Amino acid sequence: KILPDYEDMLVENLVRPFILKDEDYKRLMDIMLGEFNKGLGKETNPTAKVKMYPTYVRDVPDGSENGNFLALDLGGTNFRVLLINLNGQEVTMESKIYLIPQHIMTGTGEQLFDHIAECIHKFMSNHDLLKEKIPLGFTFSFPCKQIGLNHAILTQWTKGFKCEGVEGEDVVRLLHEAIKRRGDIDVECLAVINDTVGALMSCAHSDRDCAIGLILGTGTNACYIEKLENVGLWDGDYNEPKQVMINTEWGALGDDGCLDFVKTEYDRQVDKHSINPGRQIYEKMISGMYMGEIVRLALEKLRKHGLLFGGKGSEELSTRGRFYTKYVSEIESDVDDHFKNTKQVFEELALEKYSDEDCRIAQYVCSLVSTRAAFLASVGVAALLNKMDRQDVTVAVDGSLYRFHPHFHDLMVEKIQQLVKPGMKFKLMLSHDGSGKGAAIVTAVANRLR
Ligand code: ADP
Repeated sequence: KILPDYEDMLVENLVRPFILKDEDYKRLMDIMLGEFNKGLGKETNPTAKVKMYPTYVRDVPDGSENGNFLALDLGGTNFRVLLINLNGQEVTMESKIYLIPQHIMTGTGEQLFDHIAECIHKFMSNHDLLKEKIPLGFTFSFPCKQIGLNHAILTQWTKGFKCEGVEGEDVVRLLHEAIKRRGDIDVECLAVINDTVGALMSCAHSDRDCAIGLILGTGTNACYIEKLENVGLWDGDYNEPKQVMINTEWGALGDDGCLDFVKTEYDRQVDKHSINPGRQIYEKMISGMYMGEIVRLALEKLRKHGLLFGGKGSEELSTRGRFYTKYVSEIESDVDDHFKNTKQVFEELALEKYSDEDCRIAQYVCSLVSTRAAFLASVGVAALLNKMDRQDVTVAVDGSLYRFHPHFHDLMVEKIQQLVKPGMKFKLMLSHDGSGKGAAIVTAVANRLR
């Protein structure tokens, strides 16, 4: 899309850095592949930024999983406790969202896990489960080095969490200690997974070709099935199936500067004001926690140059974090010149004076930022697809950004198609409730094997 007149040219100059060339994406895919291999190598892993953690989940479900399971889902916007019943292809679940107050998100680990244990207690009490012993699966979606199916050591908090005394510790041990401190619930955590594995497992329950799990929500991350012979760090057994799911933690790509050639001034500002500067650079260029802010910074820049809203902004538009990523979806969902959603967003931002031209420019900025995000995520998926020795692969995708953005899916299909080797067939499939269902499936298998 090229805008016509002079003013458009000025706008174009300020947002051009969001537009990357095909060669840039190709180069990024090669960088990504290199980083995957570095993370997998025994010698190279210690200095790798993309950590490629083996998950100890070895296979997709066979459909015979059954029983009642509890699941915890922590690491997204909401903390949830779930009760899941598996019975072949039939899955039923009940869940409840519990708030994690800000002071707990940035408090101590003990406070966090006491809070979680209290929520489990409330949930079990409400479902009349206090007298039962139900196996629990924990979807804990932060970077962890796993040392077993139910041992996960947090490497670093991300996505706005920062509880003291948890990094470097086994989160399952901390959970069990909190449960013990209460003494009034009988719950044992048999498996800890992250949301990517949850998405993959949940989708694989009905589609055996599913071999990649992708999250595009608050953060971004992916997992995939890798052959054991390629996993330098593998310290488990070499029984069949000779494969394991690898949690890439690809959000950390770029933490060594390898994405600097595509970063914009807006990306640098977002990073600078985040609670983890210098970390999760790829994630910050893609995911829902940051996309709205990137757009806001670009809009503010245009406004300050007199190219938007006649130069007059609002306190809201000047407030960090106030331009939500859902606005990007809303604005891009306007399909005609009435700009109904866009105007609604402008109203919410208390902007007083805006023209149709302003609507068009805002929509253009949103589309540049979201297209770049979709293409960057595609680079990662294509790198995984090209790495895998398979013809047909289903990619399970979860997260509100993918789910609600009007063009994300189509943009990704287009870019991945461009980047994968000839003959490769893939599908992007929306994964429903992977964090709950996936945890239950993994827990069911662990429970059967013990
Ligand atoms: P999580 O990844 O935290 O488990 P979600 O998948 O719901 O949870 O993702 C939440 C993120 O999605 C937030 O950063 C939010 O800004 C973003 N988001 C929420 N609604 C939308 C939407 N309609 N369009 C795009 N992004 C959205």
